[in-house]
Amino acid sequence: MNIQNVGETEDDPLGQWPAKYMMGPPSMAPDWHPLLEKWGLQVLKKAGFINYSLHIHPVFRKAMWKDLEDEDYKVIEPALLIASAYLDDEITLTYFHAMAAGPEEMGTFSDDVLGECNIATIPETLAREKQIEAYAKIRKMCDFTTWKFESVHRMSKSHCTGMMKPLFQTETDSMTPPDTISNTHQSEIYLSDQFGPQLLLYEQQAGAGNRTYDTLQRAAGIPPNKMITILAEGVLARTTVTLAITILHEFVHAFGKAYFPKPVLDHPFEPWFPGKRTNEQGCSFEEFVFGGMIKSLNIWVPPMSLGWDGWQNISPAFGLWFDENEDQWFVHDPAGAQAIMNDYLPVDRSRPKKLWPIPQEWCQRLLTDGMWNDQVTRFGQRAYKLPRLEYWATYRWQRGGPGVWKTGQERWNAVPRDPVSDTAPTWL
Ligand SMILES: [Zn+2]
Repeated sequence: MNIQNVGETEDDPLGQWPAKYMMGPPSMAPDWHPLLEKWGLQVLKKAGFINYSLHIHPVFRKAMWKDLEDEDYKVIEPALLIASAYLDDEITLTYFHAMAAGPEEMGTFSDDVLGECNIATIPETLAREKQIEAYAKIRKMCDFTTWKFESVHRMSKSHCTGMMKPLFQTETDSMTPPDTISNTHQSEIYLSDQFGPQLLLYEQQAGAGNRTYDTLQRAAGIPPNKMITILAEGVLARTTVTLAITILHEFVHAFGKAYFPKPVLDHPFEPWFPGKRTNEQGCSFEEFVFGGMIKSLNIWVPPMSLGWDGWQNISPAFGLWFDENEDQWFVHDPAGAQAIMNDYLPVDRSRPKKLWPIPQEWCQRLLTDGMWNDQVTRFGQRAYKLPRLEYWATYRWQRGGPGVWKTGQERWNAVPRDPVSDTAPTWL
């Protein structure tokens, strides 16, 4: 029995089949196959033993969205199907189980700046009752959060494509009345309102076989003989995956707000997970699930404006990439919502970061039934983890230099301080 199909309606207790799916032999005729004798046709079908198709998780259903028209919901459905498939995955359930375990069940670490912090431990596997429990907690988020598309204006400042807003009351009484656990609260999730229009546009263009996308390349001053042709179909898939990741990232934050208590104002917002320097739960989750944080491979060179960067964050024109240890160089920002624990894992500037491009095939495979029906069943998490293509890997060093990526021209004339790291080009 597929856990995702348990308790299909609000009224039915989890772990039981609603009465409308009649168990037992399909008719009074004698001598049914023992499986049909027990489950009946309707339950077997509903549980995915006869038909299978991706389905939308209850936390993403239409009723969860504020002010969203039916036709706009249709546009985001492929992203919701991907996000749903990840939420339903058995491995993902172990993460939510660990996050909702409560501070008593987590380990603690002490940090000079942050004091005592909680570290969650993720079990390798979950017993069936624990899976149902974790699923029920995720599902309960239907009562604790809402989704909304909003103008990116305030998001674009921090280069994000979505954000989670806890429902605070006042500064001193910052928690809404406890929903499940004291000192937790409900939330609203905002996603960039650029996703809908962009998805619609690329869908139309993909339908029409569009294969240009040179406006961006012209804006970046790329000469015609070095421009490449980009398929709308590919941009559509990357935009869909980006939306799915944004949805999952913000959902994890909302889940943390609902289950991880913050008893006093300066208490860390979220617990840590093993191997992560930051407690940024959205990032931890992305690394856990995908094996890295998936980002748009942006072209953003002078004199392009910030708007070009924001646009590519929504619609990755030039592919996707990820790196090893996203938080390797993070430093603690006392004003920020997320904290870096330096005692636990100190910052390591001596080592470069490895960057990998993501094959487009990976991206488009996430949109297929075969991925979730066949490959995940056979290979588990390995089926959808990002491939680390070593031949294509490149390195990024942390050091002062001009430009967003520190690859500015002037760096070549600088006097090297460290003969290895300072003279090596970033693409070593
Ligand atoms: Zn986040």
